[in-house]
Amino acid sequence: MYAGGADVFHCGNVRIHRIEDYQGPGFVPEGMFPNIERRMLQEQWAWLVPDFYYPDLDRLRTSVHSWVVQTGRHNVLIDACVGNHKHRPAVESFHMRNAPWLERLATVGLRPEDIDVVFCTHLHADHIGWNTRLQNGRWVPTFTKARYLFGRTEFSRWDDRRPDYQPTALNEGAFEDSILPVLEAGLVELIDDGHEIEPGLCVEASPGHTPGHACARLRVGDQEALFTGDILHHPIQVHYPEVCSVFDDDSQQALRTRQRILEASVDRDTRLFPTHFAQPSACRVISGPNGRFAIDWAADARP
Ligand SMILES: [Zn+2]
Repeated sequence: MYAGGADVFHCGNVRIHRIEDYQGPGFVPEGMFPNIERRMLQEQWAWLVPDFYYPDLDRLRTSVHSWVVQTGRHNVLIDACVGNHKHRPAVESFHMRNAPWLERLATVGLRPEDIDVVFCTHLHADHIGWNTRLQNGRWVPTFTKARYLFGRTEFSRWDDRRPDYQPTALNEGAFEDSILPVLEAGLVELIDDGHEIEPGLCVEASPGHTPGHACARLRVGDQEALFTGDILHHPIQVHYPEVCSVFDDDSQQALRTRQRILEASVDRDTRLFPTHFAQPSACRVISGPNGRFAIDWAADARP
């Protein structure tokens, strides 16, 4: 079982903090992954239980967290979780939350005004929530001094002012309460594939989960950190990339993207930082038995 510890990682001299919004029971395996097979859980039982699956509840263990990248020049927030007081009846654990996310940000010495850049890998409701907070009955930007970077393709997918907008239950109301207020405050910058957020931190298109889903890759010397958003929802998908999430917009494209990222990362000094892996949440991909991938959870030794 994961012993816990500081939620801080390093990539060269860059510090990366995990800021948790939720961790606990998620969906039943087939509720999240319609094509998962029970034998897959059995084959991976040794590491799966209890950190990533609750056998008593028959539910996957999940996390929703942000990553804060401290480059020394700027503080970059990657993904903004579910947020508080958001009306999200489609997912019970997202609905009208009141979590101490800002207090957790404060434990690493950061106030909202210390965040210089917000980058959302995509604009699903569980990645944009803390973009705004409720103040005197109005949604206002949480990070008042930040530039909010959204992919241009992704933004147009979720812009519900467009006549061709396709609604989803998960995202109902999310554009109004978590995107429009930062847009109206003039804090949004729409970006394209390859955009350099910071020297050494670049955006990479990774479509499938959503049309404009994008990762962010940090390179410091020979080391890399890859912020993978929802390319992978649960570590079982490293072992079985063919397992597809019910929330993927285009599951075949998402599978191709997942395979490509895993193949490019295996046995390299590239650490993945997904948004929904339970602690320790960051991992390396290594060669496993039978030509498959496996996970190296080796923690960061430095405080
Ligand atoms: Zn997500």
